[in-house]
Amino acid sequence: MDNRLHDEELIEKIRVKKRELGSQLLILTHHYQKKEIVSLGDFAGDSFELSRKAAADRECRYIVFCGVHFMAESAAILAKPHQVVQIPDELAGCWMAEMADTQTVKSAFEQLESIAGKGSATPLVYMNSDAELKSFCGDRGGVVCTSSNAAKAVEWAFAQREKVLFFPDRHLGHNTGYDLGLKDDEMVVWAADKPLGGNDPEALRRARLVLWDGYCLVHTRFTRDHIEKRRAEFPEAKIIVHPECPREVVALADACGSTSRIEKYVREAPAGSTIVIGTEINMIERLASQYPDKKIIELHRSLCPNMAKISLEKLLQTVENVGEMNVVRVDEEIKAGARVALDRMLALG
Ligand code: SF4
Repeated sequence: MDNRLHDEELIEKIRVKKRELGSQLLILTHHYQKKEIVSLGDFAGDSFELSRKAAADRECRYIVFCGVHFMAESAAILAKPHQVVQIPDELAGCWMAEMADTQTVKSAFEQLESIAGKGSATPLVYMNSDAELKSFCGDRGGVVCTSSNAAKAVEWAFAQREKVLFFPDRHLGHNTGYDLGLKDDEMVVWAADKPLGGNDPEALRRARLVLWDGYCLVHTRFTRDHIEKRRAEFPEAKIIVHPECPREVVALADACGSTSRIEKYVREAPAGSTIVIGTEINMIERLASQYPDKKIIELHRSLCPNMAKISLEKLLQTVENVGEMNVVRVDEEIKAGARVALDRMLALG
């Protein structure tokens, strides 16, 4: 009870600050944020929609990004010079983004070119990565993708060169390659700690899609057993999962898509539907309360502790210190390269 009262006070204070700042302040919230945070945002979406929003808003001076650090960093790269981007908790990172760094990716790219020929591969980085990796892609004719436009980005990358080095999420890369009709021997996994990523040269020459061995701990918790259990419990249910899930889980689901696609799937399902969702739990719980006429069930409870670091207290502190606290800064040179790769992504639509 005490806690709820406390939350209500915090919410009211944030609302007052929002009213004071009016159109100068834009609060962006990722779908994985807690529902009380989402309710205070001006816009909720996946990382693609949020980066588009950050790039499009010309009026606001302060963008407060309720999500993890790479998202706020992307907003800072796309923001106009007069805009300041802040994140309520600077320690809200992403495990997957930490699985690839520029030096290791650069070495992999050079090793791949040494086998397949110079200019044979396009680097393609998932949004879940730091600015330096995006800049690496921008400088070498590559592009950024999110889970909602990965297929378009891979097609674009293949139109530039015969091979694609996709990092850091192997599962998004694998699921996308599969959707585009690539065969198993056209996709190989690159283990960063092994020479040639643990592949023999012939396999690399044959491969079209080279997948970095990174993954999301939230989405790789889902297993075939979870799907079978839910099918037995709710035979009438449709199951939708996120493309960061392993292929065997995606193959057993009825549908697969980014958080925006999941949201649309639930919104458009007829009243009375039962939908099992394999993604971060905060989003599932929010959808369940938003659509009480549908039965929304988690495939298995999986929480992203990084997303959960954004609290009402921290959001209040940030809006009380607009322009000053936890400002996200990106080195100008890195920003320029990363902007090229992000702009290529935004141009894909
Ligand atoms: S859900 Fe996974 S990919 Fe997304 S922020 Fe959390 S750890 Fe990173």
